[in-house]
Amino acid sequence: MLGAPGAGKGTQAIKISDKFNIPQISTGDIFRKQIKNKTEIGLKAKGYIDQGMLVPDELVVDLVIARIEEDDCKNGYILDGFPRTIPQAKALDAALNQRDLKLDYVVNIEIPDENIIRRMAGRRACINCGATYHIVYTPTKVENVCDVCNGETTLRSDDKPETVYKRLEIYHEQTQPLILYYKEQSILIETDGVQDSNEIFNDIVSKLV
Ligand code: AMP
Repeated sequence: MLGAPGAGKGTQAIKISDKFNIPQISTGDIFRKQIKNKTEIGLKAKGYIDQGMLVPDELVVDLVIARIEEDDCKNGYILDGFPRTIPQAKALDAALNQRDLKLDYVVNIEIPDENIIRRMAGRRACINCGATYHIVYTPTKVENVCDVCNGETTLRSDDKPETVYKRLEIYHEQTQPLILYYKEQSILIETDGVQDSNEIFNDIVSKLV
């Protein structure tokens, strides 16, 4: 899944994962878990994430390659938030090539920056399981309580407006070039992220086959 922070990658990745019964691999979720568990990777990643910067490629790539070699990925998987730079994409291509595999599709969710800023301010995430909500569009049943695990939901520190601006700047600089990279490989699917989330999902699914 490609798209700016807050474009709805996570939401769509979960829906695709449910429909096709393949795991969703979110590098953001992996890092947040490592931070919560205070692992070495988590400690290294935290500073970058809190500032809205990307975690260095060398900390991300091996983690993802190891994850997609796990048993549950045999029938496929959906990468959510990876790759985010051209070097990450090249490292992924090389690792897949070595195993005689390739990416089937890359889905890009397109959305203007103004919509992102508005969306992110209302986004809430569970501090326990990471499930995300929006105070207006997809609120929790009970205010500030996660529907999935009853954990507390808060505004993620990297969703604060000043950090969102930084993340958007980095997205345009480092991640957006991936759109052309995958277009050139003829595996890019594009969808309009301003639509309602079910419309986006139906549009993606209709373009997958
Ligand atoms: P996300 O939940 O996907 O928005 O990710 C949250 C944060 O984790 C990002 O703002 C980055 O700091 C870091 N992160 C997640 N995936 C990557 C990646 N592929 N490369 C570098 N940093 C990442």
